[in-house]
Amino acid sequence: MKFSGFKVVKEALTGHRGWGPLWRDPEPQAAYDIIVVGGGGHGLATAFYLAKEFGQARVAVLEKGWLGSGNIGRNTTIIRSNYLLPGNEPFYEFSMKLWENLEQETNFNSMVSQRGIINLIHTDAQRDAYRRRGNAMRLAGADAELLDREGVRARLPYLNFDNARFPIKGGLMQARAGTARHDGVAWGYARGADQRGVDLIQNCEVTGLRIENGAVQGVETTRGFIGAKKVGVAVAGSSSRVMSMAGMRLPIESHVLQAFVSEGLKPLIDTVITFGAGHFYISQSDKGGLVFGGDIDGYNSYAQRGNLPVIEDVAEGGMALMPMIGRARLLRAWGGVMDMSMDGSPIIDRTPVEGLYLNAGWCYGGFKATPASGYAFAHLLATDRPHETAAAYRLDRFARGHLIDEKGAGAQPNLH
Ligand SMILES: Cc1cc2nc3c(=O)[nH]c(=O)nc-3n(C[C@H](O)[C@H](O)[C@H](O)COP(=O)(O)OP(=O)(O)OC[C@H]3O[C@@H](n4cnc5c(N)ncnc54)[C@H](O)[C@@H]3O)c2cc1C
Repeated sequence: MKFSGFKVVKEALTGHRGWGPLWRDPEPQAAYDIIVVGGGGHGLATAFYLAKEFGQARVAVLEKGWLGSGNIGRNTTIIRSNYLLPGNEPFYEFSMKLWENLEQETNFNSMVSQRGIINLIHTDAQRDAYRRRGNAMRLAGADAELLDREGVRARLPYLNFDNARFPIKGGLMQARAGTARHDGVAWGYARGADQRGVDLIQNCEVTGLRIENGAVQGVETTRGFIGAKKVGVAVAGSSSRVMSMAGMRLPIESHVLQAFVSEGLKPLIDTVITFGAGHFYISQSDKGGLVFGGDIDGYNSYAQRGNLPVIEDVAEGGMALMPMIGRARLLRAWGGVMDMSMDGSPIIDRTPVEGLYLNAGWCYGGFKATPASGYAFAHLLATDRPHETAAAYRLDRFARGHLIDEKGAGAQPNLH
């Protein structure tokens, strides 16, 4: 089934009887060449690119719940490539380029919307830092524009510019950034992978990794043992749990991050805005809800639900930035489990166990990375060499001291 304008019109005129399921529901086979553990955005993108770009035919994705039930369907949907460090910026710009062609590549409407992002500046020091970041972005081929106070006011007149504590002095804008429909991204990759022969197996939790003589043999699951030459783990907030099955202790903590959506409002915010004096980011969905979030909850947890003090903290950030938000009613809130690495940057690497590979440590920012993460992980799984844009994301960098500390915050997950 191919999606097109013609197909939509045809189905509208014939009672919508021609739509089929987006993917098969196969029984697990006895063995595969490559098993990807985790049917989130990164696992599904990995399987898609393994089949499409690297010609891998015998691939399965094992998901303990349903496809897209994790963070891929829980995030605030912001995509951007406004990073500073050489280890990060080329990777996120590669991701941005993949986003720009994603819907054509998957023939699926993932609602990629390049509505831009503006990071607000509140101090002179912050202006210097953002100018430096903007220059680094441009050097890596990304777009960046420094706005002065009036430039921001012309675009976002409803912000509180004269807040005595947090005056707005300008902003760093990336016009090509924006949002995408998060679960639509998972569905697009899932459908594309399935069409290329990947088995997507839901309700199949990996409960053990079978390792013999230092090499992976396959995975124990709630649906029995499944053999594999290679196993790629992409389970986000569950990374520590799954890798402990191989006796590994990761430089990762799991924390809850919450997201919030207001009642539907008339079009108001036509870009993504981040508050530079606290942790608050906001956009408006196509249905009209204000979609926003803030900090992680601040204690380790594997529960996909949040606490009340952080809701208060996020609301304070919103009120400081745009006081009129106080009149909007909060409709929904939920939590996701974040795999917070100790330097705020991810890991895409082999492990000491032969045939076992890890994709983890995405912190707050793994949604925007989904296409590049999938591509780079597929590259690694297929060729055993890191993709050129992900070469710095080594697991042993924490032992070697080669950290990629984007924010200069040290080993403090709550500050990344
Ligand atoms: C509230 C919130 C807001 C966010 N906002 C943004 C944002 O605006 N921009 C951005 O870039 N990023 C954002 N993120 C981060 C982003 O969503 C994540 O970094 C990213 O989705 C993680 O990768 P994933 O999609 O593969 O994870 P997931 O979707 O969580 O996929 C992991 C999958 O592994 C499965 N799994 C776990 N254990 C097992 C097992 N033993 N066996 C089989 N399957 C298993 C899980 O069920 C899950 O489906 C946000 C996250 C949250 C929670």
